[in-house]
Amino acid sequence: MDMIVINCPYCGGRVERRANEYFANCSYCGRKVAFDDIKEEAELDLYRDRIVELQHNNSAFEFNRRQEEESRQKLRKWIKRRNITFTVMTLLHGLGFSIVGRVDEDSDMMVLGMTLLLAAWATLIAAVVLLPLAYPSYNYLTGENRPVNRFFLFLKLSAICIALCMLSILIGCIILAIFDLI
Ligand SMILES: [Zn+2]
Repeated sequence: MDMIVINCPYCGGRVERRANEYFANCSYCGRKVAFDDIKEEAELDLYRDRIVELQHNNSAFEFNRRQEEESRQKLRKWIKRRNITFTVMTLLHGLGFSIVGRVDEDSDMMVLGMTLLLAAWATLIAAVVLLPLAYPSYNYLTGENRPVNRFFLFLKLSAICIALCMLSILIGCIILAIFDLI
C-alpha cells in the first residue's frame, strides 16, 4: 500500500497515512488529522482492490470447476470402460461354458468353447490388472490428488469378476436345462 504525505493543518508538520485510511496522528503536535478530502479516492482504491480480488476468485473458481468437470469425465469414462469389459467377459464366459458343457470332447465346437472360455479369462485378468491402474486419482470433491488404494480396487474387481463368471455359469446351466427339456 502506498504512503501518502500531507502537511498537518494544525502545526504544518509532515503527516503520513496509508492510501485507504482516513485518519492519522500527527507525530509533531500529536493531534488526530482527518483526510476527508481523500475519502472518495480511498474508497475508489478499496473498490479497485475488491474488483481485483473478485476477478482473482472468479478465475480460481473457474479453474476448479474445469478441474472438477474433467475428473468427473475421467471417472465416467472409467466406469463405461469397466462396464463394457465386464459385459464382454460375462458373455464370453457364459457362451464358452454353455458350448463346452454341451458338445462332445473331440468336436470342433469344443475348441470354440474352450477358446471363448480362455478369452473370457484373459479379459478377466486384463480387467483386474488394468482397471485399478487406470482409475483416476483426482478427487473432484476436495480438489486434491488423493492416493487411490489400487490393491483394494484390484481385490474388489476380482471378486466382482469371479461372481459374474459364476453367474454366467448359472445362466448357462439354466439355458442348457431348458434346451434339454425341449
Ligand atoms: Zn501537527
